[in-house]
Amino acid sequence: MERGLLQLTKDTCKCRCAQPSSCPDPFIARTVMSGEMDKPLISRRLVDSDGSLAEVPKEAPKVGILGSGDFARSLATRLVGSGFSVVVGSRNPKRTAGLFPSLAQVTFQEEAVSSPEVIFVAVFREHYSSLCSLADQLAGKILVDVSNPTEKERLQHRQSNAEYLASLFPACTVVKAFNVISAWALQAGPRDGNRQVLICGDQLEAKHTVSEMARAMGFTPLDMGSLASAREVEAIPLRLLPSWKVPTLLALGLFVCFYAYNFIRDVLQPYIRKDENKFYKMPLSVVNTTLPCVAYVLLSLVYLPGVLAAALQLRRGTKYQRFPDWLDHWLQHRKQIGLLSFFFAMLHALYSFCLPLRRSHRYDLVNLAVKQVLANKSRLWVEEEVWRMEIYLSLGVLALGMLSLLAVTSIPSIANSLNWKEFSFVQSTLGFVALMLSTMHTLTYGWTRAFEENHYKFYLPPTFTLTLLLPCVIILAKGLFLLPCLSHRLTKIRRGWERDGAVKFMLPAGHTQGEKTSHV
Ligand code: NAP
Repeated sequence: MERGLLQLTKDTCKCRCAQPSSCPDPFIARTVMSGEMDKPLISRRLVDSDGSLAEVPKEAPKVGILGSGDFARSLATRLVGSGFSVVVGSRNPKRTAGLFPSLAQVTFQEEAVSSPEVIFVAVFREHYSSLCSLADQLAGKILVDVSNPTEKERLQHRQSNAEYLASLFPACTVVKAFNVISAWALQAGPRDGNRQVLICGDQLEAKHTVSEMARAMGFTPLDMGSLASAREVEAIPLRLLPSWKVPTLLALGLFVCFYAYNFIRDVLQPYIRKDENKFYKMPLSVVNTTLPCVAYVLLSLVYLPGVLAAALQLRRGTKYQRFPDWLDHWLQHRKQIGLLSFFFAMLHALYSFCLPLRRSHRYDLVNLAVKQVLANKSRLWVEEEVWRMEIYLSLGVLALGMLSLLAVTSIPSIANSLNWKEFSFVQSTLGFVALMLSTMHTLTYGWTRAFEENHYKFYLPPTFTLTLLLPCVIILAKGLFLLPCLSHRLTKIRRGWERDGAVKFMLPAGHTQGEKTSHV
């Protein structure tokens, strides 16, 4: 069977052409054309009176599919396109036949499972028991469970869907596969979607057969072990960006806090103290004052755990003690926090471009001009302000450019093309340069405002002074770690040195001495 499968995928497109749609082999050329997938499906010529199809190419390995829903349709399309002969088992083949590619045979369930050795079960778990009448015909065959439970079903059942199917059909070999691939990804093909197919099952040969099928369809099989892993595999499609949850909540929390702070200072204070209506600032101006604060604090939070880890290692005098869990998690989420910082910085840049487009800004400019004329002033030019603005904008653009570089190099395909030294240079050294540039951008923005009384509204300091605290601590700490006494010690610790001067390790069992001590 396995040889047959491999043989066939090779035979169906001997030339392995880059453009299968123009393949000299008429069978392949017909089946892989994407346009063909949408065409009406079962050619009338091939449909029997009972709705089943008459003929399929003899040499193609037959694959069965139970179910005629979305997944079954996409799977049949992909299998046919990959050179397999497909037979679909439906409770009502006449009704569903028209939905399948013309080369797929659509028939009753009993007929569909009679000849193929591999049968995909594309029905929901609650309908598995309705297939029990097919148990005799299915005996000895490979059943591929593609199902995904809902969150509720997962909590409700102790057994995974695949294990449940195996318990219903003890004479079959159940393999869990393809559940992480959506019907859309199957239809679109592996060039445009997730390529990995996670496979688990108790029988090596069956897993190998399904793996080869996945490979023939252009996917990358990944062995996940025995059928007991099915529960874990079934949980994967239920996840919603698990590593992004905490960083996103953190970013949103920071945004809400800073927005509220800026709202009190820029809108509420003028309203209460001077009876000025500045509520129009809420959608754009206050948001734009908030965005850089969030971006800047998030960027600091990328580098703070590294500083804490280094301080902890110096204090403990070893790198062989685990970090506390919270620090461990924090270190693992630095990439997501960094990308969110880039996202907020980008938004800040876009919002800043919009500031001069506001009607309020135009009114302010006209009013200023009128005031100037009335005051009989010919030229308004404050040299210091001009310089401050030029430097501040330039530093902001540089910081954003550096952050873009960090974001691009965290894309897996680009990260994979860098060696460890290059990657750590970009993420660590250039990342720190981005933090320095952002700090200078903030300092030139603030200039002398932190020392002017009129900028303390409701006794609250300007927002930029708050955001500067964390990065200044980090920059100071990084500076301290560069001092020869500390940097030398830290380098030694990271190369395995311990304060007590000894690294203890066990020799392999059977050695005459139980324990040896190495002085590093
Ligand atoms: P669907 O469109 O609702 O199709 C389910 C099919 O099950 C029906 O078309 C029906 O075909 C068949 N069926 C067999 N016995 C049945 C019964 N007693 N009652 C009702 N239907 C019965 O669902 P689907 O989206 O194709 O999903 C099918 C399986 O694939 C599910 O286990 C799902 O978790 C899994 N899956 C789906 C996707 C996806 O993107 N859709 C992705 C990964 C995994 P007949 O009426 O012709 O018998």
